Amino acid sequence: MSEELNFLPSLTGSFAKPAAENPTVEMVEAAYRHHGLHWRYINTEVGPENLGAAVAGARAMNWAGFNCSLPNKIEVIQYIDGLGESAEVIGAVNCVVRREDELIGENTDGKGFLKSLREVVDPTGKRVMMFGAGGAARAIGVEVALAGATNITIVNRSPGRGEELVALLNDKTQAKAAFEKWDGDYSVADGVDVVINATSIGLYPDIDARLALNLDSLSADMVVADVIPNPPRTNLIKDAEVRGCKVLDGLGMLVNQGITGIKYWTGVTVDGGVMRTRLEELFDA
Ligand code: NDP
Repeated sequence: MSEELNFLPSLTGSFAKPAAENPTVEMVEAAYRHHGLHWRYINTEVGPENLGAAVAGARAMNWAGFNCSLPNKIEVIQYIDGLGESAEVIGAVNCVVRREDELIGENTDGKGFLKSLREVVDPTGKRVMMFGAGGAARAIGVEVALAGATNITIVNRSPGRGEELVALLNDKTQAKAAFEKWDGDYSVADGVDVVINATSIGLYPDIDARLALNLDSLSADMVVADVIPNPPRTNLIKDAEVRGCKVLDGLGMLVNQGITGIKYWTGVTVDGGVMRTRLEELFDA
């Protein structure tokens, strides 16, 4: 049968709730089209109550894999067959890959962030300060620590999650991690090299939100990174630019984790520029 007459694409997709504001489908399908891959990515709204059935459905339909986003990244682990190395350390899965007959959970969030970060600074020996202690923060914290950051300060609203992440970093990596409770406007300490927002503050539709942060504590020698992909130009990115910092938006992380996920599923290393361009068109960035 010729390629043109094969009406059965390989399937991938996403299980998340909410799902309508997640642009990943547009980014991934732009890469599939560009590379002539007979693949599809189906964005679905699935929460924990239907996740077991959705994973069983993906197995039944022979999906090659899927992404999991909020609130499914931990929940999904009980429905799959094993974990890759960093997903095991992080304790969360955002990308499931079919290998033979097994569904294996990987975590590409932190890897995507690290790839973007390395484009502007090598984290080896650096001091990192990160807002947030949720799924994205755990993934970023672990990867940045494994990449050689020496000090990581976690600043979070709820102490429980923050202290848990600090314990994980101190336990499983060489980095020295410390927790500070986020109370009022936070001042970044002198000597910090990389400041990261890994909270959901600024995510559409709450686009006017600002972190409780003393902007005067940002200096021009700091790299300021935001995980928020939609909109990419958050208030934090704009405020940091005004202070002369190097900035990294959430699109870079999204594109880079997309490249890793598509490579896992299809074996093809896709062009990140095509994906970034599609996202920029969508967000008018
Ligand atoms: P979680 O729900 O696991 O964690 C959310 C974090 O944000 C927690 O630390 C939470 O603090 C904090 N937070 C939320 N609202 C507030 C607030 N009003 N004030 C202070 N802290 C707040 O979410 P994820 O970690 O999975 O995702 C976080 C963000 O990362 C999302 O916006 C998502 O879009 C983005 N992301 C981006 C990716 C990319 O590729 N660019 C990839 C993955 C995620 P607390 O513990 O106190 O509740």
